[in-house]
Amino acid sequence: MTSTVDARTPANLGPVNLGPARALSCRECGHQIPLAAEFACSECFGPLEVAYDFGRVTREDIEAGPKSIWRYRNLLPVPTDVQSFPNTEPGLTRLVKADRLGAALGVRNLWVKDDTGNPTHSFKDRVVAVALAAARQLGFKVLACPSTGNLANAVAAAAARAGWESVVLIPSSLEKAKILTTAVYDGALIAVDGNYDDVNRLATQLAAEHEDWAFVNVNVRPYYAEGSKTLAYEVAEQLGWRLPGQIVVPVASGSQLTKVDKGFRELGELGLVDATPYRVFGAQATGCSPVSTAYKAGTDVVAPVRPDTIARSLAIGAPADGPYVLDTVRRTGGAVEDVTDEEVVEGIRLLARTEGIFAETAGGVTVATAKKLVETGQLDPDADTVLLITGDGLKTLDAVADRIGPKAVVPPNAAAVTEALGL
Ligand SMILES: *Cc1c(COP(=O)(O)O)cnc(C)c1O
Ligand SMILES: [Zn+2]
Repeated sequence: MTSTVDARTPANLGPVNLGPARALSCRECGHQIPLAAEFACSECFGPLEVAYDFGRVTREDIEAGPKSIWRYRNLLPVPTDVQSFPNTEPGLTRLVKADRLGAALGVRNLWVKDDTGNPTHSFKDRVVAVALAAARQLGFKVLACPSTGNLANAVAAAAARAGWESVVLIPSSLEKAKILTTAVYDGALIAVDGNYDDVNRLATQLAAEHEDWAFVNVNVRPYYAEGSKTLAYEVAEQLGWRLPGQIVVPVASGSQLTKVDKGFRELGELGLVDATPYRVFGAQATGCSPVSTAYKAGTDVVAPVRPDTIARSLAIGAPADGPYVLDTVRRTGGAVEDVTDEEVVEGIRLLARTEGIFAETAGGVTVATAKKLVETGQLDPDADTVLLITGDGLKTLDAVADRIGPKAVVPPNAAAVTEALGL
């Protein structure tokens, strides 16, 4: 069965080919609608998510596929021939066995999923590639987003590669590096005087006015969100087709965390891995920790906050998927924890020192949270554990700039170097 596009999608396309995707389904009431550019349920305003009708998917087919997220195309809302369109080909980043970091944290078997290796150096290339592929099928021509930084990079680059126009909205206070690394792709970059939550509200208004703009995380959000499942697929495949015992995921809107869980569950249901139990942990910066606060208070209500943290890529004060993060961590036996900006910087430095990986502030949040979870007995030191490192430190140099530098400045002679080294 092929679904048809509803009247609110820009072009008259007839049936939409989005591979195994069959419908959009409401996460609250289960109401289903045909595949379209919709994100809220017409019955109850709950968030819509993609429902599938998976055919037979084998490990062999996946392993024989492209060296990018498209090896999982039969598990994503994208057309089967998705690779034939120019795209940034993200994914299949390194899963690093992190023994030295593990020893420092007291975790016996630790891996780091190093998503700094994506085309624009964050995990956002995954979600944007899926959003773009779906948006193309839905008839859009302009790629847009409100962003805390990494999404801006990913949208501007993906649009450039595809030959699309882009409209990217950012808070004007964003790190200079993230502004430049977006502007270089020469789309329409607009800095807004306000915080991310203001920018997001503005995007929702603009999405209603410009029906041919695909706001990746607004009107095509159900497709975009599915891109995060590829992190779970890759971790399982790279572990030799098995699930880890524990995974620590940074939380901004919370979408990534819920989709990592969805990815693990699908692999079990499809028989691609044994459906062994796993625990999902969320990581936030204390200066923007609405989900951690709700978790610790034992409530289901995520009260919005005004963000104040150096972890700007995670600074979403009103996280759309917050309640679903709480459901996921409680169901799997995980937790949500938060760490101070001081601990974030220590987390960045610890990862760099032990594994030679320079993460951005969000990575510092993940490492520092893992450390705290071990110290407080919430993370099992004997379970196979994966940390998601979702972005590159070169984009947030300011976080460490005041604290690190050369050990000494010396004249160009050997004796001076020896002396500086204390030898
Ligand atoms: C966007 C982002 C996240 C989290 O994304 P959500 O799905 O909104 O929770 C994590 N890390 C980095 C580096 C990001 O840019
Ligand atoms: Zn509903």
